[in-house]
Amino acid sequence: MNANDQPVAHGELIARYEAVRQRIADASHNAGRDPACIKLVAVSKTFSADDIRPLLAHGHRCFGENRVQEAMAKWPKLREQFPDLELHLIGPLQTNKTREAVRHFDVIQTLDREKLASSIAVELAKQARDVKLLIQVNTGLEAQKAGVGAVEAEAFLASCREKYGLNIYGLMCIPPVDAEPSPHFDELRHLATRLRLADISMGMSGDYERAIACGATIVRVGSAIFGAR
Ligand SMILES: *Cc1c(COP(=O)(O)O)cnc(C)c1O
Repeated sequence: MNANDQPVAHGELIARYEAVRQRIADASHNAGRDPACIKLVAVSKTFSADDIRPLLAHGHRCFGENRVQEAMAKWPKLREQFPDLELHLIGPLQTNKTREAVRHFDVIQTLDREKLASSIAVELAKQARDVKLLIQVNTGLEAQKAGVGAVEAEAFLASCREKYGLNIYGLMCIPPVDAEPSPHFDELRHLATRLRLADISMGMSGDYERAIACGATIVRVGSAIFGAR
C-alpha cells in the first residue's frame, strides 16, 4: 500500500521487477559487464509489508529503505519469514538512531561524517554485528545534501579505518535532481577506483542503465518496481 492507500497489483509488480532485471542485463551486456556483478536494491520506502511480500516470494532478497523508523515497523516480521534478506539503509542517519540502524540493516550506504563513524563503531562492537558500510559522496556539492565532498573522501576513509576500525566497502552518490547524472557517476567511479573500493552504489529508476554504463555495482530502484510513490 503506498501513500495513496492503493494496494499494488502483484502481477504488475512482478512484471515491472522482471522488466527492470532485463534492462539491467541488457545495460550490462552493452557495457561489456557481467550482470551477476550488479546488485539490485529494490527501494521499498513508503510501501507496506503486503506490497513487499510478493517480491520476496518471487525470490528477491535485497531491499532499501531510507528511514530507520519506517524500516523497524515493517522489516522484522518479514525477516522472520525470510532470514536471508539483505536490507540497505539509503537515507540519512542521525546518530540517535545508530543503535536501531545497526540492529536492523545489513548495509548502511550513508556514512558521511566522523561522529556517525564513531557511533556506528560503538554499536557494531556492542551488538557484535557485522554491517557493510559505504561512504556517501556529495558529488554535486549541494548544500542541502548529505555526503562528504570528493576531495575529503580519502581522508574520511582513512579516518574511518584507522580511528574507528570500520570496514568500508564502497561509495554511494545521489546526483543533483536536475543535472545530467553521467558526470557524477563517472566521478564516483574514478574516486572508487583511486581509493580501491569495490562497491559503487549509483543509479535510480530514471538513470540506472546509465549508472551501469558508468560502472555501478549497486543500483537502487524504487518506483520502476513498486510504482509511483
Ligand atoms: C528513493 C530513493 C531511491 C529510489 O528512487 P526511485 O527514483 O524511486 O527509483 C534511490 N536512492 C535513494 C537514496 C532514495 O532515497
